[in-house]
Amino acid sequence: MSELVGRSISELKNLLAEKSVSAKEILAAHLKQVQSLDGDIKAFTCLTEERARKQADKVDEMIARGEELPALAGIPVAIKDNICVAGYPTTCSSKILANFIAPYEATVAQRLDQAGALFIGKTNMDEFAMGSSTENSALKITANPWNLERVPGGSSGGSTAAVASGMTVVALGSDTGGSIRQPAAFCGVSGMKPTYGMVSRFGLVAYASSLDQIGPLARSVEDAAITLSVIAGYDKKDSTSIPDRQRNQTAQFETALTQSADKLMKGLRVGIITELTGEGIEPEIVSSIRAAASTFEKLGAKVVDVSLPYAKFALPVYYLIATAEASANLARYDGVKYGLRETEGDCSASILQMYMSTRSRGFGAEVKRRIMLGTYALSSGYYDAYYKKAQQVRRLIKNDFDSVFQNCDVLISPTSPTVAFKIGEKTDDPLSMYLSDIATIPANLAGLPGISIPAGLGKDKLPVGLQILGNALSDAVVLKVAHAFQQSTDFHNRQFPGLAAVG
Ligand code: GLN
Repeated sequence: MSELVGRSISELKNLLAEKSVSAKEILAAHLKQVQSLDGDIKAFTCLTEERARKQADKVDEMIARGEELPALAGIPVAIKDNICVAGYPTTCSSKILANFIAPYEATVAQRLDQAGALFIGKTNMDEFAMGSSTENSALKITANPWNLERVPGGSSGGSTAAVASGMTVVALGSDTGGSIRQPAAFCGVSGMKPTYGMVSRFGLVAYASSLDQIGPLARSVEDAAITLSVIAGYDKKDSTSIPDRQRNQTAQFETALTQSADKLMKGLRVGIITELTGEGIEPEIVSSIRAAASTFEKLGAKVVDVSLPYAKFALPVYYLIATAEASANLARYDGVKYGLRETEGDCSASILQMYMSTRSRGFGAEVKRRIMLGTYALSSGYYDAYYKKAQQVRRLIKNDFDSVFQNCDVLISPTSPTVAFKIGEKTDDPLSMYLSDIATIPANLAGLPGISIPAGLGKDKLPVGLQILGNALSDAVVLKVAHAFQQSTDFHNRQFPGLAAVG
């Protein structure tokens, strides 16, 4: 493994500043890592090397001219394949978009580009971000770097596996019901879903628009915070983007990380979500979360038990709202405007036949299941009983959070009820797959920020994720608590164990 791989943003930036390495060399080291590992891990759907090389040259010229470097100058970044990078494919790991080249750039990609980041490539995902294991990709199955027979989690499995295996320094994922946090837990990295509206969704292919949020994946909270500072901000192209005047303390997330752990934690109130630390959660995971709670106590925080009584309805509520929104968002893939057009060789096919063959060939089984579920929940006669009821319960879940946040600064729970499961273990049982997100979905329904960070090893010596949730707009508090934990533990430094077997 090259000595430039596995480094933090600040280490790499120091090396650049003191001219002991060039951006070109950083890029080459990471591309080499991709070459030697991605054959087994299969994290990338395409490489964007050419663009990265141009950017590396620009950064090296800036260094030569003695200019100050922007936040991510020379830092390799991977981007989930549902986020548009102009001129490159955006497939959402679906056959229906297999030949689609993004004609424009997502706001997050523009921001990363302006910050000097090197785009390594686009990453594999569950088709249209529907899934918890990246096995729903129509393109390939990504493996977990810790154990190649296990899933990396999903749906941002490609981005997460790329970070965990050192093929990139940071990556972007999207989280609709847990798709950043759950894979972060499975691969032993830090992954954050910001407050809804914190990061622009312009250029993110919509799955369930009221829940989707882009966020960073990194090997430390510090690197996630630096990346979030770059991508967050008001964007007039996204009507749900939070205006500047409401973004109080949150502009510079990394400033939350400048104090020592006990200063950061002194006097903070941490609530343990009781509904998520009992039945149905692997016992090793529960003990890691309890151990994390005592770490916080030792640092001066007060830990209390809290209850979210309506959280038990989060899963059915989510699978009604998310599928309803998905059925509307995915109506645009009809063979006319985007991607695949299927006439089955019959040039005289009617437009209806063309729609039907395009959609039946283009979408995978899980996507079809969800379009059907969502269409049903929205149909006249069932709307009130399902969709409207789900929206009402969504409000009750939000109310639960509002009341516990009157007494707590952050909440903690496991990120996932299990460690990474085996490839193929849950593919025939969608319900058990849906249960993987039981702990992450409530935050999406309520629009709250949450992070998953490594908190130890569980069953089969696989990583356990600790989830930290905050109130709306308190993303900086979440980062602060997560950083305090990483300053006083070394779970996040235990990386790449699978690489010996691979390389
Ligand atoms: N696993 C959940 C789903 O399948 C969440 C996906 C996501 O966050 N994109 O919908």
